Formats: sequence, structure tokens, C-alpha cells
Amino acid sequence: MYHLSLCEIKDNLLKKKFSSVELTKCFLERIEKYKNLNAYITVCSDQALQAAKKSDEKIANNTAGDLEGIPLGIKDMFITKGIRTTSGSRMLSNFIPPYESTITQKLLDAGAVFLGKTNMDEFAMGSTNSTSYFGKVINPWKVKERLVPGGSSGGSAAAVCGHLCAAATGSDTGGSIRQPAAFTGIVGLKPTYGRCSRYGMIAMASSLDQGGVFAKTVRDSAVLLKAISGYDEKDSTSANIPVPDFESFAGRSIKGMKIGIPKEFLVDGIQQDIVDAWKKGAQILKDAGAEIVDVSLPSSKYSLPVYYIIQPAEASANLARYDGVRYGFRAEGKTLNEMYENTRDQGFGNEVKRRILIGTYVLSAGYFDAYYMKALKVRKIIYHEFNDVFQKVDALLAPTTPSSAFSLDNEPKDPVTMYLNDILTVTANIAGVPGMSVPICLDKDQKPLGLQLMAPHFMEEKLIQIGSVLEAGASFPSLKEID
Ligand code: GLN
Repeated sequence: MYHLSLCEIKDNLLKKKFSSVELTKCFLERIEKYKNLNAYITVCSDQALQAAKKSDEKIANNTAGDLEGIPLGIKDMFITKGIRTTSGSRMLSNFIPPYESTITQKLLDAGAVFLGKTNMDEFAMGSTNSTSYFGKVINPWKVKERLVPGGSSGGSAAAVCGHLCAAATGSDTGGSIRQPAAFTGIVGLKPTYGRCSRYGMIAMASSLDQGGVFAKTVRDSAVLLKAISGYDEKDSTSANIPVPDFESFAGRSIKGMKIGIPKEFLVDGIQQDIVDAWKKGAQILKDAGAEIVDVSLPSSKYSLPVYYIIQPAEASANLARYDGVRYGFRAEGKTLNEMYENTRDQGFGNEVKRRILIGTYVLSAGYFDAYYMKALKVRKIIYHEFNDVFQKVDALLAPTTPSSAFSLDNEPKDPVTMYLNDILTVTANIAGVPGMSVPICLDKDQKPLGLQLMAPHFMEEKLIQIGSVLEAGASFPSLKEID
């Protein structure tokens, strides 16, 4: 059962081939068996089994929702009422929220069963899931080599890839859905900024953060996207525009579509297998009747520096709320100031502190114009370049990452090398456009590689349409068993 895609599971549940309780038990057993991967921070077995039982009743009465009885993993930055939500930080290690995020509420309304909260980099800052207060996550591929699953949504990616849930949620501020999806050989979809509500997603960098999904197939990602999309009056940046039936675009012909190959994504030091995979992907789309066009996004080379000014600036402001007074972790101190200092010193890890320092620096009176304002201006230029390119092409095809997954034991030690992991993903966040990583092949060391599609704002259906053609042509050898 656990190998099945979400759509296959749905079909089997509705035909009563197996029950949601049986399936939920099966995933819970696997989560326990593969605890060493550390994919989950909190497992909610009792709640999950109760929810599964309810779902089985609904299926029996023909009142099933779109995701009735389907067991999911939820990234631990989505606020879940009554279920501990940590954002991978000591600061929230004891936080039990009194309300529910909009995305998780929509999933619950559709009948989904939550297995637990998945591991992640602290406050979603990282590319390897190594900054989590709750420990590192191991990629289910080649477990002995201890590969990173990518980050920051490393737990969700590992859980989907290792069949520890049917699908999962993630968040993507600079690549945290697409990059781990590429490293683990699954589909990762970051919707347009504004497509899904950010209400109840623990804020990292608010103008870039976007919730999205991890799935085994492009079609699965379409079903989930439909469930989580839509206007929400609780989020002033959520867009009030209709939500298409994304699933109906899976498998449609792409004949006559124009696909752009942005030359700036051929970055220095990119792994040769990835360049080959990119060509393979373009060929698959060409064979399916699309026209391949060379395009340029000249300012996208500034995306990474722009990101690493805007992201820390916004994160430093968002993290100001963790002061030991309102909720979460508190350290003792003789005076109020000492209590604040000790709380923030002990509650945050090094990467988070580094971003707070950079963020407060670029926002400080003397440097605001030189860094932050400048970054906002370059961001606008990048945004316009995307709009111009999308006058000529339907979508863009590029690699998701410059390399395949590396071992936990030789992770880059210096932060800037680590930040280079995001060089191909941050651009979509800077421009706010939707992006999807689709697994394409294995590299020479048998590690997964992904290709990234980007589409105009609010045209996720193009990602689904083109992504499903890419998926069919690639016939990627998904992970069968964890060894
Ligand atoms: N790796 C990037 C960072 O550390 C992106 C994180 C994200 O998308 N949440 O900021």
C-alpha cells in the first residue's frame, strides 16, 4: 500500500480495497521502523488513527472529501491546533498552538489524516536540514552514504521519498521545496506567491514565503495544490482569483507550447550530469511537440545576493517576537534585558543568529539605502525580466540544483558555499513565480537529479501540464525500498 501514489490510494480507499485505518497503521509502522532517518519531529499516532477511523466512516456513507483518509506529513512550520509546532527550533520546542493554519485546515476539511510534523531546518533557514534543533535528517537514498535530504523541508522530502506518508506539505522561501525534492527524487511544487494563504505558517521572510507540496507524482501534486489554494481573508497577500482544476491539466498535450531555456542557469561549477539531464529534459519536451527557445534573464545572476539581503532583513524582523515573554522557550535572567538576551542566545541556533545579525545590519539607518533599498530595486528588475520572457514562452526549464545530494559528513562548512545551493531556486521566489521540480534521472553515482519548471504568475496549470509530460518521458526509477 505504501508505495502507491496519492491518486492510487484515493482510488483504493474509495473502492474499499483497504481502509484508511489499515493504511495509517502501515505508515505509522514504517515511521517507527525508519526512525533513524529522523524525518519526523512529532508523530501523532492517536490523532491519526482516530482521524482515519472517521474517514473510513465517511467513505462508507459516501460523504468522502477530496483527500479522505489520505495520510500526510506536515512540515513543522505549519501551525496545527493542539499539536506541538516547533519550526525546528528550541525556541518553540514546547509550543502547542491554539489555532490551525489555513493550509492545514483546508487539508483537514478535505479529509486528510495527519501522521505528524516533519523535521526541518531551524525557522526554515538552511539547505541540508542540518540546522534543526531536533537533529539532522538522512536522505532515504543510499542510507549508508548518509546523504542530506536537502532543506529546509528535509523531513517532508525524506518522508515522501521513503514512503513514510502519501505526500507532505512544505514551504519554499528560496528553494526549500524544490531543492529537497530534487535531492530525494520526488515532485516538489512551489505555487505562485499569493496562491495559498500564509496564515499560520511560521513566518521566515514574508515577501518570499510560500507553502506548497511534496508528492510522488505530478498528478498528486495537482490534487494537493487544488486543496490548499484559494483566497483567505486572514492573509492580506493571498490572491482573490479562481482556482482551476489543476488535475485536469495532467497528461494534456504540450504541442505548440514554447519552452524557454534561460542561459544564466548554466552556472559555474554545475555538475556535468545535470547539464546532460537538462538537455535530456529539453529533448523530451521537444519530442512531445514543444518548441525549445533560448532565452535570457540577464539580472537573475543577482538573485542570490538580493535574496541574502531581503531574506535576513525580513527574518530578523519576524524573529523579533521570540523574546521569552509571549510564548515558547524562556531562559532565566536577573533583569528583563538579561532574560531577553539569554532567551535569544539559548533559544536560537547559529544560522538563525547569523541571519538576524545580517538582517539588522542591512536594515540599520546607515546601510538601509545601500543594501536593502538597492536589493528591492534589483528585485523589481528581475520581476520585469520574468514578465518580459513570459511574453515569448509558456514556461522555463532549468536544473533545480547545481549538484546532487552530498554526504552529511562533507557538508560545506562556510555559510556562503552553503548558500550557493540555492543559486538556481531563489530566482523564482524573488520574482514570485510558481516553480516545480520533477525528478529526471540518476547521476553517475546513482543519486537523483531534478529539473525545474517555472511558469508565469498564477499559471501552475502549465507546470502540471508540462511537468507530467517530463515525468512520463523521464520514467524516473523512484526509490523502492530503504536499505
Ligand atoms: N536555503 C534557503 C535559506 O536558507 C531557502 C530556505 C527556504 O526556502 N525556506 O534561506
